[in-house]
Amino acid sequence: MKDALEKTDLKNLSPTELEGFIAMFGKERYRSVQALRWLYRRGVRSVDEMSNLSKKFREQLNQAGRISTLQSIRIEEDRDGTKKFLLGLEDGNRIESVLIPDKSRLTLCVSTQVGCGLGCRFCLTGKMGWKRNLSVSEIVNQILAVREHLSGKSPITNIVLMGMGEPLANYVNTLKAIELMAHPDGFGFSSRRITLSTAGLLPGLEKLLNEKIRFRLAVSLNAADEETRSRLMPVNRRYPMKRVLDVLRNFPLKRRARITFEYVMVEGVNDSPRDAKRLIPLLKGIPSKINLIPLNEAPEIPFRRPSEERVREFQEILMKAGLTAIVRTSKGINISAACGQLQGRALCP
Ligand code: SF4
Repeated sequence: MKDALEKTDLKNLSPTELEGFIAMFGKERYRSVQALRWLYRRGVRSVDEMSNLSKKFREQLNQAGRISTLQSIRIEEDRDGTKKFLLGLEDGNRIESVLIPDKSRLTLCVSTQVGCGLGCRFCLTGKMGWKRNLSVSEIVNQILAVREHLSGKSPITNIVLMGMGEPLANYVNTLKAIELMAHPDGFGFSSRRITLSTAGLLPGLEKLLNEKIRFRLAVSLNAADEETRSRLMPVNRRYPMKRVLDVLRNFPLKRRARITFEYVMVEGVNDSPRDAKRLIPLLKGIPSKINLIPLNEAPEIPFRRPSEERVREFQEILMKAGLTAIVRTSKGINISAACGQLQGRALCP
């Protein structure tokens, strides 16, 4: 019998790969549909719970495959209802996922890497550096761990890939995980309810042009000129904003779909009326909306949050030019669960 970790983690397989894996035992396609449903709809923790599969087939599956889970280490809740989950991986690393209630929506923000190598200067995850990419199972298991905690009370309605890490730097696993999220026999989320947020990794964005799988795209812009963006986001030196925006101008979007631009507002760096005015021509020709996110301050971050008036003034300039600009008040600030604050703080409990 194989050692547990040598066995195939069933949640690392895309729906097509799972079908191929199950075909190895001479089983029909519908058996893989059944397995998918057990794994993601029912969230079973062992093959033995797949009660509509024969005993012999379950034994075969147990010999070759396994079902991984994440260990829930700590859950913190903010006054505004936001919950931060510290989850343990099999190799001892830890990641964070954040559950954000907002009116009728319950959004789960999931991580795609342990740490992040892009080093955006306003982000605590960036300060950690990159440790490793998450596997497909480690990405989707975040949804299962949080769902188990909710125990069916309120369903997660939206997924954002916006936690620790740059999703397009872990391209293959992220896309497979999204496939499982969107698959009707997997989690079954509508593609409109899955958002991938990227700092604008050009090779990944270009590859996305040819993907069949659809989801919403959010891009961290954070500046209206190359120099300021490079100062805030070192990745801009490699993949300048102009080239990123050129790709986005040709991005195949469904009718009425829009790209979201995230704009973290930093006092005295990118928050002036001049910055707002420069942004207008840059976004021309891209169906978009802009989320203005006043910086979440932290002692380790060398920047300040602008005043509310400054943010409103910026927003009004964009709106007068016909752009959709929304000021996002960050949730989960008191438990360091807001945008850019994730760092697995309990890495040193
Ligand atoms: S903002 Fe995103 S891409 Fe930038 S360092 Fe933080 S996690 Fe990485």
